[in-house]
Amino acid sequence: MPLVSIVPLLHRAQAGGYALPLFLTPEMLAAEGTVRALEERGASAAVGVYAPWIERPTARALSAYLVALAEEASVPVALMLDHGATLEQCVRAIRFGFTDVMFDGSALPLEENIAATRTVVRAAHAAGVGVEAELGHVGTGTEYQEMGARRVGFTDPCTVAPYVQETGVDVLAVAFGTAHGVYRGEPHLDLDLLRDLRACTDIPLAMHGGSGLSAEQFRGAIAAGVSKINVFTELGLTTGRRLCEHAGAEDASYFTFQEVIRDTFRERCAEYVEVFGAAGRFPEGMGAEG
Ligand SMILES: [Zn+2]
Repeated sequence: MPLVSIVPLLHRAQAGGYALPLFLTPEMLAAEGTVRALEERGASAAVGVYAPWIERPTARALSAYLVALAEEASVPVALMLDHGATLEQCVRAIRFGFTDVMFDGSALPLEENIAATRTVVRAAHAAGVGVEAELGHVGTGTEYQEMGARRVGFTDPCTVAPYVQETGVDVLAVAFGTAHGVYRGEPHLDLDLLRDLRACTDIPLAMHGGSGLSAEQFRGAIAAGVSKINVFTELGLTTGRRLCEHAGAEDASYFTFQEVIRDTFRERCAEYVEVFGAAGRFPEGMGAEG
């Protein structure tokens, strides 16, 4: 199965009323567990690299591994840069063979966000690479009481259509009450706002900050118009906890620690895929809607 852009897969998901995950994979064992889960569940997804990781000395090697892993998978897998902060980071990812890049200009004033995103879109589309951008601003869970709970950074529906048209972006990340990392307090999603945002554009909408939401909240967000959901924090926390628990085992070794990492990603990613309704959509064929 080829390494493919997430964009046409998201259009399928949007039409089919389900969502595809983006799982960040900082290293090879996490990536292997993630792709095994996708194969077992007949699901497609994006494997993601967080932008600061693309600056690491090992970034080219990790990217080459992820490309090979995706190419050999039995389901379509996209490779996406997450939260690219500069055009240079996005170009670096494109050179490494990524199928999609997310450029995050959401902390910039709107006009600057539009201009910067448009530049990334031009470079990416020239290379056949899809682009996600963020409008409004998804904050972090530790500042949730000051941000999300007070609707700070929420996407303004009036800005959606002009933003999409002026940037030419393929996927839009929107802010309606989610946050990155661990939520301080209960996350409250404004699904009425999400439905309004959904009505403003035809392109797929992405939700960041999936860790810590309930299955009911995921299903509500998908029904209200989200087609892509980013998850990472929970995977990292659960894997860390299981490694700590395993440290006391009599047979604990380098090899068994590797299994814990791989198996935790495999199990947790499979569960997200089920909740998002993405299981069983592949490999029955790219042409047929599942
Ligand atoms: Zn994010």
